[in-house]
Amino acid sequence: MTSKSRKNITVKAFKARIQHHLNFHAVDLSHSIDKKAILMAVCSSVNEIVFDKLQSTNIRRHERNSRSINYLSLEYLMGRMLSNNLHNLQLFKTAQAATKELGFEIEDIFEEGHDLALGNGGLGRLAACYLDSLATLDYNAMGYGIHYEHGLFEQQFYNNRQIESPDEWREYGNPWEVCRPEAEQEIPLYGHVETVAETDGTLRKVWHPGQIIKGVPWDVPIVGYNCETVNVLRLWESRASSHFDWEAFNAGDYQDANSAQTQAETISKVLYPNDSTAAGKELRFIQQYFFCACSIKDIIRRYLKHHDDWSQFADKFVIQLNDTHPTIAILELMRLLLDEYRFSWDNAWQMCKQVFAYTNHTLLPEALEKWSVELFETILPRHLEILYRINEEFLNGQVDKMWPGDTAMRRKLSLIEEGQQKMVRMAHLSVITSFKVNGVAEIHSELVKQDLFPEFHKLYPNKLTNVTNGITPRRWLKACNPALSDLISKKVKGDWAKNLSLLSTLTDYAEDKKFQQQFMQVKRENKVKLSEEIKKLTGVSVNPDAIFDVQIKRLHEYKRQHLNLLHILALYRRLLENPRLDINPRVFIFGAKAAPGYYLAKEIIYAINCVAEKINNDARINDKLKVVFLPNYRVSLAEKIIPAADVSEQISTAGKEASGTGNMKLALNGAVTIGTLDGANIEIAEEVGDDNIFIFGKTVDEIKALNRQGYDPVSIYNSEPELKSIIDWLDSDYFTPGKFGELSAITQSLLNDGDHYKVLADFVSYSQAQEALDKAYKDQAGWAKMAIMNTAMMGKFTSDRSIEDYANNIWSLDKNLPATQAVKLASGE
Ligand SMILES: *Cc1c(COP(=O)(O)O)cnc(C)c1O
Repeated sequence: MTSKSRKNITVKAFKARIQHHLNFHAVDLSHSIDKKAILMAVCSSVNEIVFDKLQSTNIRRHERNSRSINYLSLEYLMGRMLSNNLHNLQLFKTAQAATKELGFEIEDIFEEGHDLALGNGGLGRLAACYLDSLATLDYNAMGYGIHYEHGLFEQQFYNNRQIESPDEWREYGNPWEVCRPEAEQEIPLYGHVETVAETDGTLRKVWHPGQIIKGVPWDVPIVGYNCETVNVLRLWESRASSHFDWEAFNAGDYQDANSAQTQAETISKVLYPNDSTAAGKELRFIQQYFFCACSIKDIIRRYLKHHDDWSQFADKFVIQLNDTHPTIAILELMRLLLDEYRFSWDNAWQMCKQVFAYTNHTLLPEALEKWSVELFETILPRHLEILYRINEEFLNGQVDKMWPGDTAMRRKLSLIEEGQQKMVRMAHLSVITSFKVNGVAEIHSELVKQDLFPEFHKLYPNKLTNVTNGITPRRWLKACNPALSDLISKKVKGDWAKNLSLLSTLTDYAEDKKFQQQFMQVKRENKVKLSEEIKKLTGVSVNPDAIFDVQIKRLHEYKRQHLNLLHILALYRRLLENPRLDINPRVFIFGAKAAPGYYLAKEIIYAINCVAEKINNDARINDKLKVVFLPNYRVSLAEKIIPAADVSEQISTAGKEASGTGNMKLALNGAVTIGTLDGANIEIAEEVGDDNIFIFGKTVDEIKALNRQGYDPVSIYNSEPELKSIIDWLDSDYFTPGKFGELSAITQSLLNDGDHYKVLADFVSYSQAQEALDKAYKDQAGWAKMAIMNTAMMGKFTSDRSIEDYANNIWSLDKNLPATQAVKLASGE
């Protein structure tokens, strides 16, 4: 089928397809059709087209034998797939009309779909946006990850506290995946290494594993936007290897056979729910090795299918490591080249240095992964040997050459951290092996060079670089905000979802009264819709004419949801003192999951919920303030909140948020940012201009200076009367009647534990910026202009730009154009 005939699928034909598939998914067509059945039937109808395109993409790729990018990530936060796939296939309107004829609103069908939540937050969502752009730009790309049985936990609130329950995303089957048994892999673990002498006298290492796990691939098709490409995300599921347990089983030892199976299947059972903290658990280590080993073996299998020797391997494959989580892939490729394919050490190492590139996502020390040497010894003994040799050659070679005889430097840069327990520094291994290392926003990449890896920067002056993160405008504007998309399409010529810089033509209308009204009318309609959702989720009624002030992201001290809370308390106090205080009514909207083991994060959730309960039920303040914490923040909830946001809270401590991507999604949808000079906020400010953003707080350098001088939060508390009264208030039983000190974990962290994230240092500046924002909102035309300017100037932050940066500056990718287009280009059209 050509693209032409596909675009011409009529409503009638699409409806017939859905009805055909309903035969499989609905029990009894004579009765009213269940929403889950219609969802499955629509997905199956879409899949006919998707898999057709996947086949032709594969054929095209095979013919062209183009260089492929292989993205290794422990997390993919995909969200729901149907709406996005329909938009990318340009089938949305057709499907909408077809399902309408069958008696369903398409939005209600979408609601039946489960999020694919195989990630924690920004890092996993970035991987999902990059897959969308890679397909849209027609790059030969493959994503590799883990097929978790349970993704990120579901969150509910009970007595204002977070309760977690397991995510059952495949409870009714997942229509967007297909098992590929032909690409199964076997993964060794444990055991010992034997040194064998060959007949020619050379020594060879043989790893005798103690256990073998099977890796079963599930492929999720990734549909490019308005193009012919469908790529694949390959997710590995662990199973017991069939060799293994039958012996025990036949010997009557069913228990043992079964426990081996259970153990094997545990590996891909559950996503670790820690965002920005290394888990340090044996199972996590095995998860990382399991998926890296499956992926590297799959890459080699794909290469050897089309090549007789290794001469082109580094030309045909580049492997991007999304953070240090997949670092073990380096050791696995070394091992296979040395032990299975009999490379010399130097040749194997040269090869590895050409294929890997690494993205650093954080400077937070608690997030930098280290694994104990002991764990390596037990689980991956052969990999440890290889690691030691890499380290030896690195220290005696490059390090000794740059810093001769400097033992302190050797200790500092070594892949092994000395101490009570020897630890392997995964970031160091990634940096010394990779041909490029990138940070994820300009400031972050500078800090990687200056503060995190200054010595590596000296050793490899061209290795460290920047690729500012991006988001896909298909999901984060076109699909999630149809009303704004339609308005934009009336003013912007061309396919702005594919060329986001086109939005800058909207600046021509930023002061156009009529356009301002239309833009704000769309915003208001989105706020009405969100108000209904808020009512449904929390029972709280909110006023769509209030300012919708949004902070949605993982709960973390560095993101400073508690700074937002202190400001809410300040407003509340001011209103109680003067109920006629002239401020715009405001609704503070939170969405955030806390890692289940992160005590203070959970206390912050509890405090926000307690304060919300008090404020929302206080008749004295005339509904001028509302606070809602929407449960179970995830991609599909973000898609509902973002189009309705007036204000985007991006208030991390400067230097802590590597980039942020929520900031980009919100600004793209016309929310005005109040934020610190951190991560991509800085680049957003550059794009929208200082008049269209509210910047506050200490800069990176000022925070560093505070740390040098010795930061004293208590002196700030004592010298700022409003701040003092708020903190004392939080410490009373005002928000938890009868329970004194119920919320003092927060005040404790701010006053007694040193306020590590400088909340008090930034409070006054934040509060002033909020006042300026409130004042700005009173000028309706002025605000509309700001909102429009934000949407108009987000072109830079499309993930298409990020991917082109990677393709040009890191991966050296050529395009894998479809034959027709390639011919056109060749003939100079
Ligand atoms: C975009 C996104 C994030 C990242 O948000 P930040 O504000 O950049 O931390 C986290 N979770 C979900 C569900 C997202 O869509």
